[in-house]
Amino acid sequence: MTGSSGEDEGAQGAGRGAAGPFVAALLGLGEFACERLEPREDGSVSLQLRGGQGDWIEITASTAAAGRGHFGRCALSLRGQVSAARRAETAVAVERIGRAIDACLERAPAGCSIVRALAGPPREGSVVFGSEAVRAMLSPELGPGVRTTDGHRITVIEAEPNPRVMGDAPLRVSVQIGREGGGAPFAIVVEKRDERPAYARTAHLSMSHHGTGAGRASGAHTLCALIAFLLRLRDNPDVAMTFPGALAEVGLGATLDVDVFEWIPFAAGVKPALRHEVPYARVEELVQWLERRGFVAAVAEENRRTPDAVVYVARTLEGVRELASADAPIVQALPGSIPTPQLVRLQGRVGELLGYPACCVEAFTARVAREVHRRIGGGEAHEHFVAAEEAASRTSVFHGRLNDLLPQRAARLVSFFPCRYDCPAALAWADGVFAAIEAQAPRLARELGSALVGRMVIDVDGARGDAVSAAVEVLALEFDRF
Ligand SMILES: [Zn+2]
Repeated sequence: MTGSSGEDEGAQGAGRGAAGPFVAALLGLGEFACERLEPREDGSVSLQLRGGQGDWIEITASTAAAGRGHFGRCALSLRGQVSAARRAETAVAVERIGRAIDACLERAPAGCSIVRALAGPPREGSVVFGSEAVRAMLSPELGPGVRTTDGHRITVIEAEPNPRVMGDAPLRVSVQIGREGGGAPFAIVVEKRDERPAYARTAHLSMSHHGTGAGRASGAHTLCALIAFLLRLRDNPDVAMTFPGALAEVGLGATLDVDVFEWIPFAAGVKPALRHEVPYARVEELVQWLERRGFVAAVAEENRRTPDAVVYVARTLEGVRELASADAPIVQALPGSIPTPQLVRLQGRVGELLGYPACCVEAFTARVAREVHRRIGGGEAHEHFVAAEEAASRTSVFHGRLNDLLPQRAARLVSFFPCRYDCPAALAWADGVFAAIEAQAPRLARELGSALVGRMVIDVDGARGDAVSAAVEVLALEFDRF
């Protein structure tokens, strides 16, 4: 039986902490799976173990009478057909759990209930829900590196990736469980408590299983039960827990459904309107979302410019109509056609309606008038190269806040071409956008802030970063401050 050597194998890293010996004993149960683990009102703990022979063991562990302060009683019931050998194994397992609880009680202040002893010192102050908070509640007993005797372990505790539209989805933390040498991974997802059916609930949280449950081995059940148990013990009902949105833990590397650098500042009121390109398949969902939020949207008809839909968004019907009508002749013009003076004027109007600084709009329309691929000194290049070269020629201090040259082009604070990389009006705009992003997506703001500073390269064909070609002219700019 694997459980006989389990205590040592499973104890790696789990022995520490208030519940350390208890967690280590359960991780080392081998063939037995801990299916349920419940703290009880009177401070005792009930456990339900399932053996591989269809046998069930129920244990209630409570402290001895007269405040002796250690594990005193274990009510045991066995169900199912159980061989004599299994009875002996069961006795060993129960004995081990009892000794582990005793060890936990010895670490705790005298007179503690089992539940209190396993919980450790109560957490105080306020808590912001997130992967850090979940990690803190499970540690030091459970975390990546701690494993069961059958090779199950927590692989990662992190926010669910790729939150959908604009981040008003709630933040959900996924505790992922995997097994060395394969087996389907699955997760316990922790989120703000609600009344939907759940695997387990704490004072503030609900937990559910995600992933395939089929063929899940005993150690996986035990880990799930332990995660739910520790969260229940340690989520102090007296503590105020706040729940940020899903964007709170999004980083720069995430693949997001929408351009958050546009949407967050718009929703925060920093941008007056948006001209947004999205795949046609997503338009309906987006428009519905906007309408629920009280915004107004319109989709460009007869768009010849992009394979995606052009969606205009504003706070009023008037605002959206104005933007759509100014932009209509622009999106209807064939790509590459010579811009007429009327189109140049309308480009300026669109920039103005989107709230862009007048000086930057003017610099842009001047390029549109002479054709956006024409360089200041003559010759042709990619539109982004031309704009960057021109802005750089007017710049004395290169500010990362205005850097629009990251390889991931959407990652920028200014959604227009700045007239210079130290344009005061553009810097003020960037400050507002950054503050809005910082408020909703602090990790993203931090990562973007450091990514925007440094040396940027773009070649005449518009390739950026590592993709620039050595065979063509490259513009390198050093953004030395944020
Ligand atoms: Zn400007």
